[in-house]
Amino acid sequence: MTRAHASTHILGYPRIGAKRELKQALESFWSGQSDESALKATGRALRARHWQTQQAAGLDFVTVGDFAWYDQVLQTLALFNALPTRFGFDAQTLDLGQLFTCARGNADHFAMEMTKWFDTNYHYLVPEYTPDTRFGGGARWLLEELAEARAAGYSTKVALIGPLSLLYLGKEKRGLADRLRLLPDLLNAYGILLAELHETGVTWVQIDEPILALDLPAVWLAAFLPSYSQLAVQAPPLLLTTYFGSVAQHAELLRSLPVAGLHLDLVRAPEQLAAFINGYPSDRVLSLGLIDGRNIWRSDLDRTLVTVQQAYAQLGERLWLSASCSLLHVPVDLAHEEKLDAELKSWLAFARQKLDEIVLLSRALGERSHVVEAALTASRAALSSRRQSTRVTNAQVQKRLDKVTAGDAERISPFSQRQLAQREALNLPLLPTTTIGSFPQTPDIRALRAAYKRGELGNLAYLEGMRAQIRLAVDKQNEYGLDVLVHGEAERNDMVEYFGEQLWGYAFSENGWVQSYGSRCVKPPILYGDVLRPEAMTVGWTRYAQSLTDKPMKGMLSGPITMLQWSFVRDDQPRATTALQIALALRDEVRDLENAGIRVIQIDEPALREGLPLCREDWAVYLDWAVRAFRITAGGVSDATQIHTHMCYAEFNDILPAIAAMDADVITIETSRSDMELLEGFGEFSYPNEIGPGVYDIHSPRTPTADEMERLLRRALKVIPVKRLWVNPDCGLKTRIWSQVDPALTAMVAAAKRLREEFAVQAS
Ligand code: GLN
Ligand code: ZN
Repeated sequence: MTRAHASTHILGYPRIGAKRELKQALESFWSGQSDESALKATGRALRARHWQTQQAAGLDFVTVGDFAWYDQVLQTLALFNALPTRFGFDAQTLDLGQLFTCARGNADHFAMEMTKWFDTNYHYLVPEYTPDTRFGGGARWLLEELAEARAAGYSTKVALIGPLSLLYLGKEKRGLADRLRLLPDLLNAYGILLAELHETGVTWVQIDEPILALDLPAVWLAAFLPSYSQLAVQAPPLLLTTYFGSVAQHAELLRSLPVAGLHLDLVRAPEQLAAFINGYPSDRVLSLGLIDGRNIWRSDLDRTLVTVQQAYAQLGERLWLSASCSLLHVPVDLAHEEKLDAELKSWLAFARQKLDEIVLLSRALGERSHVVEAALTASRAALSSRRQSTRVTNAQVQKRLDKVTAGDAERISPFSQRQLAQREALNLPLLPTTTIGSFPQTPDIRALRAAYKRGELGNLAYLEGMRAQIRLAVDKQNEYGLDVLVHGEAERNDMVEYFGEQLWGYAFSENGWVQSYGSRCVKPPILYGDVLRPEAMTVGWTRYAQSLTDKPMKGMLSGPITMLQWSFVRDDQPRATTALQIALALRDEVRDLENAGIRVIQIDEPALREGLPLCREDWAVYLDWAVRAFRITAGGVSDATQIHTHMCYAEFNDILPAIAAMDADVITIETSRSDMELLEGFGEFSYPNEIGPGVYDIHSPRTPTADEMERLLRRALKVIPVKRLWVNPDCGLKTRIWSQVDPALTAMVAAAKRLREEFAVQAS
């Protein structure tokens, strides 16, 4: 008897390494401590290990092509020799230093724009399509990687970003009217690569078209059939992968494409299976993404198996099993967690464990061995322990939720009145200058935090050490001549972890790193239970900082939506409920800051945009509860207390009304990387409150001059009245070093002063 079997695979494995090996190798290369060959060796070792892991888990294919030196979109541009032409690089002879120049910029070039990958916290580099963009053969990395995997004897599937997604996710620059016009050229380049893969005997190419889950304009949808008809002529069998949402509305189109298989995200959109499975073409594979690639909870395998068995009955061997999307978005391996308690740990599955879950789903088809039964039993027990745990539900939190009123989301007076009260209380100059919160995280600071964490440094010594850091930051800000100061966030490792560690309901992994962009990784907290703030979290540091200066010291908090978005959150209650719990905890913190004499409080919401559902019809519901959570956080203070918010690295123009509805007194927002494009939106919408569009791109090691910043401010003044304009960098400065920050902020203040004088002359 042949065993029932569904082929198992993944769309991608985290490339950063269980111990962030890629991060270390990248940073050592960037700092000149190691050379390209050392970096390449690390990449090779990581790929080898990840393929080995996939094979050892029992997957039928290992995936090649999910590795990237910095970002998968940038990597694909290099593959097709389509890096932005302004860099002048030929991808056929590209070295890694040049690739990183595109990603990070240097003295001669601005970095490429970066934005969030769909609704994840991963950032990709935005392709720049210009009239002179041409596609062709570029870097040979993919073929080299394929050769490595084959040499090691693996059965492989090659993963590629699809041409329509690659094109759609880019921006038109320098007068290019319509990037779809580049499609024929792009398809030629894809065709050549696919033909080459075909010739070398590749049996499967996974071609990712995640844009299918978006609201796609009709012309883009219409491009799918002709494009894939052209590509399929001389290509290995193509598995067209979709994820992050339902593609049920395109079922007919997808069926008509000449591809060998289709992948669906059944975690985000389980209901879409029905639109595909009945009458599914008999010559095609259907890959079901049943294990959550976006969250860390162990699966309900019994429930999932029902779907698997039904699908197997209809599809037989044409059924493939997988995670919903690439495992890029989850940490690598739970085995490296020694501090999480056993109970909580039993509720979780990281990338490595998800491979086991996928394989188990296939093995549980048909006759079950002891091993399979035991694995299913363990999974069942974990699930029931989580459902029944008293760590998850807190009566005090539940009671407070019931008591929330509409008034909790309202400030006392409308903005125009608050503005007067704040002007009186704060007495700021025209074009006030400030920063976004963090200052360079120096080796000293890291050493201090690490020693404290290890218990080598007592409370008092840590407090003194941190206070010295705060003094340093305040002195520097006074020297620059800034108007609204910050304490510098030296005590914070991360803007969510810092708060989560002080709240009930959160747990922390030791090595649960997820790539955010390039070498930057985040370790999202695990929000498993009802959220409660047992005591003030930031008041001590902020009060100390305020004691050092007469200028207003800005309190600094991470907002409820950012806390939600950048955590792995519960899948057992609506996100809106979790957001509200966090908002209530933060509201108490805002009030405590006010009571401690803090007159300006910033509630950062850089993640507001990325929480937005991918389809517009779902936006209103989300924005409604998200904005309400922010307003509840901010709503408990007097008119004279100035509430700031901050956002960055996303498109904000399409949600400006919701941003305005948050009703923060001031918003500081990143703009320089998108060349102040954002301002057009602010102009058109005429944003009602005060705005600080960033004038200093903090991701670039390049120091902007006062002239440059003055120019940006003048552009801002075309759409924002001078009385509502603030002057600030794009984002926090924690990734910079002081020798970069000193001249940049000095120049920023100089630019503000120049304009201020000009307005003073005009007024007199
Ligand atoms: N206050 C934070 C900082 O300055 C904001 C960071 C962010 O927007 N991502 O670091
Ligand atoms: Zn920011």
